[in-house]
Amino acid sequence: TVQISKLYQQKKPVISFEIFPPKSTSPLETVFTTLDQLVRLKPDFISVTYGAGGSSRDRTKEIASRIKNQYHIETLAHLTCVGHSSAEIDQIIKDLLAENIENVLALRGDPPANQPDFDFSKCEFSYAADLIRHIKAKTNICVAAAAYPEGHASCKRLSEDLNWLKYKVDQGVDFLITQLYFDNRIFYNFIENARRIGIQCPVAAGIMPVLNAKQIKRIISLCGASMPAKLLMLVDKFGDNNEDMEKAGLEYASEQVRDLLESGVEGIHLYTMNKPQQITQILKNVGLA
Ligand code: FAD
Repeated sequence: TVQISKLYQQKKPVISFEIFPPKSTSPLETVFTTLDQLVRLKPDFISVTYGAGGSSRDRTKEIASRIKNQYHIETLAHLTCVGHSSAEIDQIIKDLLAENIENVLALRGDPPANQPDFDFSKCEFSYAADLIRHIKAKTNICVAAAAYPEGHASCKRLSEDLNWLKYKVDQGVDFLITQLYFDNRIFYNFIENARRIGIQCPVAAGIMPVLNAKQIKRIISLCGASMPAKLLMLVDKFGDNNEDMEKAGLEYASEQVRDLLESGVEGIHLYTMNKPQQITQILKNVGLA
């Protein structure tokens, strides 16, 4: 098996996609229709989210295994440690390895629904850093982690957040993937600051196309990404017309990707939202498909 961290040494930029498992009430097969189309774009790897939005956690492994063993594309299984014991984590890692999955995106995860004051310090793993240390002490798995160019929503100061990121990376992170953001200057500043404090691993830029006005509101309330005036104007102008808004959103994301490619970015991670046609359009726009 290929460890994804090696891809970042071999080629530039590494192009990757993120997909999510269908809700447990929907058939698993729907995601394979999506994948059939995404794999035609020949991404370097595809990541599969874990438990986010109420999806079944077992499905992450099932889908990642199909990506790896049937589509023969490298895969990155997301894994959150909130609420898991170390014995459970060990079992999950063992199950992933049994499917040839050797790459994990190690996350803390969000508080359980309806418990905003949830006390992470009472968990066996309080932070992603604890999970990463645990995995690296026992295995050679390639471990990725999340980075927040605008700071994590729960952190009061950007500099503090960056110091915790450095600490996390020092526990054995092989590469980072950023939270979505809409202004590349935010990403470039982040990279400069990260390098300055000694974060040396590759960093993939997380890009999510805006496809409708409702989605924007959700994104802002969930992760607090700041909205450049240019994007706000597009929403003002096209927000009421789904077709035009999608077109403008895809063009905006393509512009972000183009600029990243020109800047020599190490990786681009596209949040596909399980929408292969739109992702195909972006890659066509920038000459990558
Ligand atoms: P951490 O790195 O642990 O950081 C969390 C916060 O704690 C930060 O504010 C940090 O500054 C602070 N901190 C860190 N260490 C310490 C310390 N020792 N003391 C005090 N403060 C500290 N969620 C899902 O449920 N499933 C997914 O599949 C998923 N995929 C994601 C993929 C990406 C690329 C990203 C960016 C996020 C993803 N998330 C996912 C969301 C993620 O779980 C949440 O953002 C979560 O709240 C933080 O996880 P983390 O691993 O970044 O946390």
